Amino acid sequence: MVKARIPAPRRSLLLGASALLGTSALLVACGAPGSPSAAGDAAHRTAAPSASTSASGPTDGGSSVAARPTPGEDARTSASPAPTASGSPTPAAPSSSPYAPPSAARTTAPAQPGAGSTPGASAPATHAPAPATGVLRHTASGGRTVALTFDDGPGPATGRVLDLLAQYGAKATFCEIGDNAKARPATVQRIVAEGHRLCDHTVDHPQPMHAQTHEQQVAEIRDAKADIERAAGGSPTITWWRAPGGDFTAENERIGADFGMKSLGWTVDPRDWARPGVQAIVSDVQRNLRPGGVVLMHDGGGDRSQTVAALEQLLPWMVAQGYVFDFPQS
Ligand SMILES: [Zn+2]
Repeated sequence: MVKARIPAPRRSLLLGASALLGTSALLVACGAPGSPSAAGDAAHRTAAPSASTSASGPTDGGSSVAARPTPGEDARTSASPAPTASGSPTPAAPSSSPYAPPSAARTTAPAQPGAGSTPGASAPATHAPAPATGVLRHTASGGRTVALTFDDGPGPATGRVLDLLAQYGAKATFCEIGDNAKARPATVQRIVAEGHRLCDHTVDHPQPMHAQTHEQQVAEIRDAKADIERAAGGSPTITWWRAPGGDFTAENERIGADFGMKSLGWTVDPRDWARPGVQAIVSDVQRNLRPGGVVLMHDGGGDRSQTVAALEQLLPWMVAQGYVFDFPQS
């Protein structure tokens, strides 16, 4: 159902952009939403031309919605500039979302003023947007605590992640894609039942988020919150949201706040989504984690076997280091 909502031209545009952007081709897989179902995802991924995988590996099979963070998603540990620092990290924006006006946005790029006009676009996206000022990057309790956060799920790997967390008595926060939550409500309910918390990671992970129209950003944030809460059974109230690629702006931060959510950032990004190798993930976290830190990892968006294997090492390491597992500030 959701897959049908994703217009093919969007993927084409993204793929074209990837060819122009070199390493930013990673954005393609991240920004190209696929089916929320695992089975459908494999088909979606297989159908995608190879341009989408040039830098991140040959396949993304087995994922749910093929969302991944931007290369610049890390706010602290990456050499890449933060999305807002570079002004316009991806000039060729995903031009449409399921919420785009039906005719215009599917064939034009609203992020580029000359490329076409998008009815309802409330702000030009080519200029560096006003930065968000309230992004949370700390645990709730401080001290020797760590907040683990997992993005882009739920997906096929989420169960294994939950098993490991349970084994070490760790609690985590899952920043879920609305479409994935709708596809895997039982997993969402397990997350809540086991004491973890949920975070809104938009309906289908559009990137760059700031290039979406205001109305699209509202819909992405609002509808994902509703989808995730519904999948969870309606009991939890989600109090955080996380922009795809960490693309927080003053505008979307305000939207999140309108729906009762604060912007959730991170301090450690081992870039597990790019599958750099298990030891690379482990050592990045070990090198960069400080007390009160928020670690970004992924339980969705592709093959997460490296993430799971890294967690098998990191969880006992954190325990041995005296870290207590905590939730982010709220
Ligand atoms: Zn993400």
